[in-house]
Amino acid sequence: MRMASQRGIAAVIVAAGRGTRAGDGPPKQWRDLAGQPVLAHTIDALRTAGIERLLLVIHPDDAARAAALGEVERVAGGATRDASVRNALEALAADPPRHVLIHDGARPLPGTALIGRVRAALEAGAPAAIPALPVGDALWRGAGGRLEAPVARSGLWRAQTPQGFDFAAILAAHRAHPGGAADDAEVARAGGLDVSIVEGDEDNIKLTWPGDLARAERILGARGVDIRTGNGFDVHRFGPGDAVTLCGVAIPHGRGLQGHSDADAGMHALTDAVYGALAEGDIGRHFPPSDPAWKGAESRVFLTHALDLATRRGFALGNCDVTLICEAPRIGPHAEAMRARLAEIMGVEAGRVSVKATTSERLGFAGREEGIAAVATATLVSI
Ligand code: MG
Repeated sequence: MRMASQRGIAAVIVAAGRGTRAGDGPPKQWRDLAGQPVLAHTIDALRTAGIERLLLVIHPDDAARAAALGEVERVAGGATRDASVRNALEALAADPPRHVLIHDGARPLPGTALIGRVRAALEAGAPAAIPALPVGDALWRGAGGRLEAPVARSGLWRAQTPQGFDFAAILAAHRAHPGGAADDAEVARAGGLDVSIVEGDEDNIKLTWPGDLARAERILGARGVDIRTGNGFDVHRFGPGDAVTLCGVAIPHGRGLQGHSDADAGMHALTDAVYGALAEGDIGRHFPPSDPAWKGAESRVFLTHALDLATRRGFALGNCDVTLICEAPRIGPHAEAMRARLAEIMGVEAGRVSVKATTSERLGFAGREEGIAAVATATLVSI
């Protein structure tokens, strides 16, 4: 379920350009920035700011690269930036959001505060709002290494993205526009929209020139380590059977655990903790119980998926801690095997994985041995 503050907004990430100014190599939005593609940072920045509905506009040649970014909705770009944005807006129109942010994929560092200023302007009723910074340097026209004439800088702004719009208004403006606009603010103005300016951010750079990646790495480095923590809780009920699987280890028991998958409450709680740290919902969102494909599935599939998602978002597991709550079977003799199994699945050393157990003093459903509960905490660290 979406929270009220997130309902009604989508973000279009424009990443179909072939950008030749940044030197040889893949287009700038696909270059490596601190161990991740530039676009992985861009996506993470928008998600961190609470934008859940993202639509990535890519060049058809980049489909394989885009697949490596994980679960992000995609649409093919057009021959020009305008056409790419138009494609994305038309795709969103099937289930139109109230507001849309349109953002350059090659701007990997939009801060949550900056995105918040654009959203606040839209929520206050502006049909369009863009972040911009006043020009501080003297401006000159020049050619052949010589100055020709000064340009008055008073009243000049450097426009950034994400640019925010009333969705219906910007869609209509794009449909009516002949093409060739530098950005969506230009399209909005041509469509008669009033465009508000909110304060931009010097760190929200657009990777354009060869030195820009190094500058972006310095900005990221100065931000320090990003630490995320999530928790998870799960319960499965006892039923007929002769073993239970907990944290990937089968333990002989007079009964089994019931569930759509292998009913591994410990691994489910841990998986939800990792999703939680990423603000990526829970297992049910990624593996709907209504989908028969996951019936009887081994739970390592879920945990592997959550860790892959963390890796693609630029995070590694710092540590995790799982507590199993049951009267029986006894967990202690199996705890080391569980730690080893979880560590193997997650690709980390066992020293980062804790598994322990407690009873509930014979109280409640666990105390009556009707089922087993598990709670987990996971901490992710940016890499
Ligand atoms: Mg479960």
